[in-house]
Amino acid sequence: MINLKIREILKDNRVHISFEVFPPKTDAGFESVLSATDRIAALKPSFISVTYGAGGGTSKNTVSIASHISNELGVTSLAHLTCVSSTKEEVQKVIGELKEQGIENILALRGDRPAKLTFPHPNQYHYAGELIEEIKKEGDFCIGAACYPEGHVESEHKKEDIEHLKDKVDRGVDFLTTQMFFDNHILYNFLYRIREKGITIPVLPGIMPITNAKQMKRTLELSGTALPQRFVAILDRFGDDPKAMQQAGIAYATDQIIDLIANGVNHIHVYSMNKPEVAGAIMSNLSEIVKV
Ligand code: FAD
Repeated sequence: MINLKIREILKDNRVHISFEVFPPKTDAGFESVLSATDRIAALKPSFISVTYGAGGGTSKNTVSIASHISNELGVTSLAHLTCVSSTKEEVQKVIGELKEQGIENILALRGDRPAKLTFPHPNQYHYAGELIEEIKKEGDFCIGAACYPEGHVESEHKKEDIEHLKDKVDRGVDFLTTQMFFDNHILYNFLYRIREKGITIPVLPGIMPITNAKQMKRTLELSGTALPQRFVAILDRFGDDPKAMQQAGIAYATDQIIDLIANGVNHIHVYSMNKPEVAGAIMSNLSEIVKV
């Protein structure tokens, strides 16, 4: 496999599964993240994305892990980049580093606003759309962006959120990745609404296999994600038994993925959270469906 632009990968009609890793908060955790990344890369996903610390503090690790994935493991990498907590100069420096490392793909994000940030700050990008324009000026990157089938938490109305999304896409986005969701009908409805508004680029549904119910509860509350009754029953029944929860979480995610593929969605991004055993179980469940 070689380091490709994701927009090229998404052009064929094969089913594509990609995974995600997140960098360690401190340098001490670097080796263990690298080892998890190596095991995930061995599953031959279409690409691996590397998240970016909200405050910009782990940017160095995002660049080095993305570079390790593409330059040493030979798997396409996608480096996330947020802009809200950094100055324009800091963001431009990271774009330069990504270019230097030959990273072809950037997921351009605003990031969550820190509670104490005076917003907007004069020397910062205010929204992901401005960052996208900057990345386009800096080089021939393939640019991804985030979207929210249930609406972004800050948006009062979904209609307005989709208008902002259209504006963002028009600034030069090649593909979108969704926030996690646990009811595929929400995704199908969202796809219908955005296609109607003229957003025609590929959308990669983001599937999160829940393996630790307690850890996830706060994240789910923060993101305003709807939890279908079937999913709540799983959390209630298995939430206190980590091994059972992991098995049930992988089964639920697999079920979502198979339904998506059956309904013609060919590219799926799995939030594998540095867990090669979870990524491996999902690939094994799809062994006759995803040809690597
Ligand atoms: P934007 O697209 O800028 O949108 C943010 C809000 O502003 C929305 O409500 C939108 O409707 C509104 N808006 C947009 N443009 C305008 C405008 N011109 N005028 C007025 N309002 C506007 N966070 C991290 O810290 N690191 C990560 O690695 C990371 N990876 C992510 C990956 C995915 C796939 C997703 C879905 C999210 C990720 N996040 C990450 C979280 C993300 O940073 C937050 O959700 C953040 O609050 C919004 O980022 P955005 O890029 O979607 O922002």
